[in-house]
Amino acid sequence: MSIMNEPFLLSNLIDLQEIDNQIFKLEKDKKGSESVIRLMHLESEFNEITKKIQIQKNEIQDYYKESDNIATSKKSISQKIISIKAKLEDQSLDSNDLINYTKQKESNELQLSQLETKLNILNRNNLDELNEINLLTDSLDEIKVDLIEVSKLVKSEWKNIDQKLAVYETEKKSMLSNFPQKAQELYDELKSRGVDVIAAYRLDNNQCGCCGVDLTTSELDLIFSTEFQQCPYCGGILV
Ligand SMILES: [Zn+2]
Repeated sequence: MSIMNEPFLLSNLIDLQEIDNQIFKLEKDKKGSESVIRLMHLESEFNEITKKIQIQKNEIQDYYKESDNIATSKKSISQKIISIKAKLEDQSLDSNDLINYTKQKESNELQLSQLETKLNILNRNNLDELNEINLLTDSLDEIKVDLIEVSKLVKSEWKNIDQKLAVYETEKKSMLSNFPQKAQELYDELKSRGVDVIAAYRLDNNQCGCCGVDLTTSELDLIFSTEFQQCPYCGGILV
């Protein structure tokens, strides 16, 4: 690669910083874009409503127990009726069996209708709670639809950002391969110290391009006599 042979210039640090800023901006977008915020909002809404439904259901847990029992009984009685009906189809039944099975069938049908009534009364007695749960479930379903839609959006946004990030990361890597170790270490050190602007050009009116402080001629002379031309006030590198 020809870039390996290019001489290192302090202005390369400005380019590196520019790339780092872009990377920082993209990572910030990734965490805080409008859709990400909407997604987080929807998720918390989803959790909230799920919790509400659970609380409501807990409040009427006797209802659920009872209605489950009724459903189980109804199922077993219905099956009994089906099998009795099958027996009644048999042409070879004698009259005793016929009477017997018919009675059994009627008795089971009566039980079934009594269970229906019981269930209706049970439902009526818990109507308000059940309506509330239905409303909550409906809004949960709506949120689910939104969640899926926004998740897709976020995913495609992230894919887009990741592609851009990869380009910058590659560029950064290739740039760093051309950096002397000392320059790299200084850059990292200033960055970890939280220096806002690590490297910048000197401003026309003798101000530090990094922190904006006014520099005297002798300060400037001193700065430019050192290898990394750091501002004594902010530590930034003056190019
Ligand atoms: Zn400065």
